[in-house]
Amino acid sequence: MNTAPALPLDPALPLEPALSLKSVTLTYPDGDRRLTALDAVSLDVAPGELVAVAGPSGSGKSSLLAVAATLLSPDEGRVTVAGQDTGPMSARARTALRRDRIGIVFQQANLLPSLTAEEQLLAVEHVRGGAVRGGSGRAARARAAELLESVGLDAAKRRRRPHQLSGGERQRVNIARALCGGPSVLLVDEPTSALDHERGERVVELLAAVTREHGTATVLVTHDRALLGRADRVLTMADGRLR
Ligand code: ADP
Ligand code: MG
Repeated sequence: MNTAPALPLDPALPLEPALSLKSVTLTYPDGDRRLTALDAVSLDVAPGELVAVAGPSGSGKSSLLAVAATLLSPDEGRVTVAGQDTGPMSARARTALRRDRIGIVFQQANLLPSLTAEEQLLAVEHVRGGAVRGGSGRAARARAAELLESVGLDAAKRRRRPHQLSGGERQRVNIARALCGGPSVLLVDEPTSALDHERGERVVELLAAVTREHGTATVLVTHDRALLGRADRVLTMADGRLR
């Protein structure tokens, strides 16, 4: 794993949060009523900070990430990503913001079965329009290899397809893929639920290292409190409220 030094952050300078939620409320239709999934949730995450959100199933963790990812619009409140208020944005602007600024890692890696680890990253870059910093072809492959190397996949593993990788390795590919666009915000939903405890711990370690090296504002949600030791802050979600 790449062990680059931490970003030289000057503690005297308060960092503008890369992700900010202000009094966010989200409801879902529930018969003839509404179910409140997020109840006036506020959260600021600075660049290079790893915030863990723990809470039982159904407490609103995935809803929190969906709102932060601008996949769902809150009923009330404000979501700001990289200094941009997402509320007034058009759907197209929001899609562009997501592509350029937000990396998402879901519970299931959702890798394409026929592609090698390296190709999973190249496919994303292709969809992005060859935006791999530095163009297509050789430069894109080099960038993909570098990202995969940084999450601990050697040259042989980079050429394997998902079924030839372990669950932990697939999750590493998933994380590398989320980093392709150089996101400011990294949102991670239960990345360890398919892993045993030790592999889960190593994935959380990796997320902490990635957060430092890439300077992402990272939110990791999990129902497993045992995994929270690496986080800068641990918050608890219960019944749609964050504490
Ligand atoms: P968690 O990720 O902590 O398990 P969720 O954010 O998935 O929690 O869910 C929070 C609450 O919202 C739960 O009561 C869940 O049943 C409900 N919920 C989640 N998604 C939907 C949906 N699409 N439609 C209706 N209710 C939903
Ligand atoms: Mg969930």
